[in-house]
Amino acid sequence: MNNKIWLSSPHMGGTEEKYVKEAFDTNWIAPLGPNVDGFEKDLENYLGNEVHVAALSSGTAALHLALIILGVKAGDEVICQSMTFSASANPIAYQGAMPVFVDSEERTWNMSPEYLEQAIQDRVSKGKKPKAIIVVHLYGMPAEMDRIMEIADKYEIPVVEDAAEALGSSYKGRKLGTFGAMSILSFNGNKIITTSGGGALVSTNEEWIRKARFLATQARDNAPHYQHSHIGYNYRMSNICAGIGRGQMEVLQERVAQRRQNYSYYADTFASNNAIILPDEPSSDFYSNRWLTTILVDPASGTDREEIRLALGKENIESRPLWKPMHLQPIFEGAPFYGDGTSEKLFNNGLCLPSGSNLTTDDLARVTTIMKRYLENVTA
Ligand SMILES: *Cc1c(COP(=O)(O)O)cnc(C)c1O
Repeated sequence: MNNKIWLSSPHMGGTEEKYVKEAFDTNWIAPLGPNVDGFEKDLENYLGNEVHVAALSSGTAALHLALIILGVKAGDEVICQSMTFSASANPIAYQGAMPVFVDSEERTWNMSPEYLEQAIQDRVSKGKKPKAIIVVHLYGMPAEMDRIMEIADKYEIPVVEDAAEALGSSYKGRKLGTFGAMSILSFNGNKIITTSGGGALVSTNEEWIRKARFLATQARDNAPHYQHSHIGYNYRMSNICAGIGRGQMEVLQERVAQRRQNYSYYADTFASNNAIILPDEPSSDFYSNRWLTTILVDPASGTDREEIRLALGKENIESRPLWKPMHLQPIFEGAPFYGDGTSEKLFNNGLCLPSGSNLTTDDLARVTTIMKRYLENVTA
């Protein structure tokens, strides 16, 4: 059997072990320490725009704290992009609040500004103004941020930007993760850079970031004994993981370039194949880190994404359908949804191809050769 080709696997740069060794040498084996401070500084410098950063145990934890700090409580409503990973929406349920799902638009596959406004107006007319808007940059592609921020400002609803897949992407030259009242990043093992597991909360509001660090370390009041006047969480990033993150930050730019190269390879290979469509950046305003290269399979071509996925799987190559929209998930049955079925159509026809920054040209050729051979047989 050929070697396994993964969808997206960790890719160390080389200096991670130096930071981890420092942690061992100084016995900073705890959810605080110099690597945590250093990693936060690295992220702040990289993102710019005067943001502050709290390094946390996961992107999901970061979203949960964002909602808590924005005051989301039981019975509230929170608008969320429907097409996303469940971690974008689960923290709404942690708070006992209700998600209101909004469909995607065709250009970016992210939140439709049109349906966002329709959702806000309809919820307000029903007597409940949504407490926050969670917008996601799927696969690294920036959402239509100008229009979304304009609508959010008009109705005075804070935006929580889920940039878990989009570190290294930008919109109109500004880094994603700096648009929201609060933004979140993920450093899970399959993301563009990883700390093995981890996340971060980002905001220009320093007070909120201080509060996030406080809540993430069990919300201890300032007293010699353990005194608590808030419910706390154990959400801080460990100093070992942060050491990996500091090393990874040194190669982030390189990782973006490598992932974008994967996309170009696939796009060139399938440029003249009518069955396979690769999403372009809609204009030069949109710069994607190309975390994952995704394709749409034309349903009229005689095959579908599932057959291609199985053909690749047989050759020990991992690929994956696009995120199944949240309004179609059993856990969120009955939640309101505003849209026209765009995300469902994308889900039915879309596939994520192997996209790791550590893939060789031979690996990519193996993937595309199998796909081409398969497509020639079924679409001729
Ligand atoms: C990975 C991911 C998250 C969650 O991050 P974790 O660090 O795995 O908790 C949230 N949203 C999206 C869109 C993601 O892809």
